[in-house]
Amino acid sequence: MLSLDRLTVRYGAVTAVHDVSFELASGEVLALVGANGAGKSSILKGILGIALGSGGISLAGKRVDGLTTHLRVGQGIALSPEGRHVFNAMSVEENLDLGALNATREDVDQRKRDMFELFPRLDERRNQRAGSMSGGEQQMLAIARALMSKPKVLMLDEPTLGLAPIIVEQLIDLLGVLKQRGLAILLAEQNAEMALEAADRACVIELGRIVRQADSAALRNDPAIREAYLGM
Ligand code: ATP
Repeated sequence: MLSLDRLTVRYGAVTAVHDVSFELASGEVLALVGANGAGKSSILKGILGIALGSGGISLAGKRVDGLTTHLRVGQGIALSPEGRHVFNAMSVEENLDLGALNATREDVDQRKRDMFELFPRLDERRNQRAGSMSGGEQQMLAIARALMSKPKVLMLDEPTLGLAPIIVEQLIDLLGVLKQRGLAILLAEQNAEMALEAADRACVIELGRIVRQADSAALRNDPAIREAYLGM
């Protein structure tokens, strides 16, 4: 569904991502794991065109790297950003509306019904100000807002940051449901334990490069990965 061919991302003279290539299928979760500053967010930003660089990006076999961010979203790539960035002063429902700016009224209503079914917590709180919700609820809202664009590829940047373990477990369950719906999910996570539990495969990122790419189970059992990323 998503294919990267030597993606490079630069901030002025600084190259944050070097020649990153991978494939992500529908119904698959691929994790990007690595330390602070390794370049995980920059890969997601490069895919969406928020950060500039070079390399091929294909979605369902069609090149999208020449498109603006807006058009890439329209083609089916969505991002739930690090730090959630929900619109605090707006209600849950208004936040969801903003995730589907291109859709018809009918489609928006249908997608919201779907989101409220998937996230009963948001249904209960649909008129509540987003800024007054808990961290976990805001994270769910950020994901639901991303899903409102009906993406084929859902990218999540540090979704577990600051969340209680029980909410992290709920998030892992949610990814399982979205996988079954056929979404391709790209998960950037510093929490390698969570990432390797939730993902089918993972890329280990160091200094902007993929240094390992393997099944999550293989990485979980690898002594070097356990020591460096799982604190064991
Ligand atoms: P974190 O988990 O801390 O967000 P990360 O793996 O997502 O880390 P990035 O945020 O992608 O890492 O950062 C990769 C590198 O790019 C870092 O050296 C960072 O300082 C640099 N960088 C990121 N954004 C910018 C920017 N807007 N301008 C200049 N350099 C940047």
